[in-house]
Amino acid sequence: MQNAHNRDVRTVMKRRQFLIGTASGLSVLVLAACGSPSPQPTKVPVPTGAPSVVPKPQAMQRSSWSIDPFARGSFSFPAVGASPEHRAALAEPVLGRMFFAGEATAATEPGTVNGARESGLRAATQLQAVGRTNERIIVVGAGIAGLAAATQLREAGYDVTVVEARERVGGRIDTITKGWPNPIELGPSFVHNSTENTLDDEFATLGVSTLPFPRVPQARTRAREVVPLSPLGAEAVAEALAWAATQPQDVSVERAFVDSGESRLSDALNAQGLSDADWLEYEISTRLKMTSGALLSEQSAWYTPAEPLADDDLIVVGGYANLLTSDAAALDVTMASVVTRIAYDDEGVSLRLGAGEALSADRVIVTVPLGVLKDEAVEFSPELPFAHRSAIAAIGVGVLDKVWLRFDEPFWDTEAPLWTVVGTDSDFPVWVNMLPITGEPVLMGMIAAENALRLAEASDEVFLTAAMHSLEPFRAAT
Ligand SMILES: Cc1cc2nc3c(=O)[nH]c(=O)nc-3n(C[C@H](O)[C@H](O)[C@H](O)COP(=O)(O)OP(=O)(O)OC[C@H]3O[C@@H](n4cnc5c(N)ncnc54)[C@H](O)[C@@H]3O)c2cc1C
Repeated sequence: MQNAHNRDVRTVMKRRQFLIGTASGLSVLVLAACGSPSPQPTKVPVPTGAPSVVPKPQAMQRSSWSIDPFARGSFSFPAVGASPEHRAALAEPVLGRMFFAGEATAATEPGTVNGARESGLRAATQLQAVGRTNERIIVVGAGIAGLAAATQLREAGYDVTVVEARERVGGRIDTITKGWPNPIELGPSFVHNSTENTLDDEFATLGVSTLPFPRVPQARTRAREVVPLSPLGAEAVAEALAWAATQPQDVSVERAFVDSGESRLSDALNAQGLSDADWLEYEISTRLKMTSGALLSEQSAWYTPAEPLADDDLIVVGGYANLLTSDAAALDVTMASVVTRIAYDDEGVSLRLGAGEALSADRVIVTVPLGVLKDEAVEFSPELPFAHRSAIAAIGVGVLDKVWLRFDEPFWDTEAPLWTVVGTDSDFPVWVNMLPITGEPVLMGMIAAENALRLAEASDEVFLTAAMHSLEPFRAAT
């Protein structure tokens, strides 16, 4: 643990050096891609800072996915040296008795709700290819992957039990309704790729309200000036990744920036006090880190998408967890049961629970998050095949956290739903303004990668102070 903390302290410092190097047009040292444990909160001291000029909200709710023992991170990302083959390896059945699902095993759309669900359906189909109906099946984890797998098997006639560590279903889908005028989401809020998948129709059938959420943000400087978006950062990212694609082996995104020369953007300030380098930092903080949750030194340049996702997002305002309600109600779900050990052979499987009980079954589908597998929070006996262990080590787990703030009345005067900050270091560089969406003065902020790790264990007071400082550029002009 101590080593992991030291590593993260060093990487936080590296990031700062990278940014300094970028802004001053200098090349910088690059960290070699190191092993990839689950993300660990850093012990960097968190200054409380001066009180913010932003009014104090009436309510705050935050996530801390990196310290959640049943998540240990937010979602998987392509780490340096990892490839889609690693996800495929993790999705391989073991002895026809143990099957893996979950977003990290998804062939398409990993790191998303839809990818996770598809992986659950795939694992159920793999099991059906070798198992007889009426067999006893255990599914570990009641997130969307586990519930999808269990539902398909139950409908096919299998005797299915879902074993879930938490006292609720949904896993990283975590909708809070109590105390808020509309449901808020500590996990996913958006349906990505909505023109391709069916989630939008399903929400519509369930009567759950969703709205198109265009990705074009408003960008503001620290001085509260709204500035036109510059393509310079996105172009530098595309060039650096294109350079990396021609290299004989994968490198980190950080290294791709430096070695391709794309980090050498001018730091000369224009009339708005912004430089070309500021727009690169903007692209890094508002896109690359938000989508991976990872340090640049850990992200694969080969497999980081050069283009932003298609602009077809929907925001779910009626509660993401409604997607799970009917499946969960029809299933036998054993809550508050932490699986600590899975023993398997070609006859069957047996599971040990934290409280000491044992369960046995013909086959098991394991859907615990990649961070849980990385930390070996579940012991496998015998140990997993080498290909599975390699995949678990190679694929990365990133961190994205959210903060929701409810105000008495808006302190802002923009109707833009998506806010971003340029030209200044901001812990929360992206905000969603719910006022034009729900009519309520509620904001959702996002914090990723090293900033999320640094604040993961901070008190609510410190966390809120950081959020309020990040909101200062959005105060209404007086
Ligand atoms: C902050 C955040 C924002 C996101 N935003 C979006 C978004 O806008 N759109 C999108 O599509 N995706 C988004 N995602 C990703 C999406 O939430 C996940 O990809 C998806 O929910 C993962 O589902 P899963 O079933 O694979 O895993 P999980 O939902 O994590 O399910 C795994 C289950 O296993 C349980 N478990 C863990 N350990 C044990 C154990 N030892 N014994 C028994 N049970 C155990 C867990 O409690 C959990 O219920 C976001 C994620 C986060 C964290």
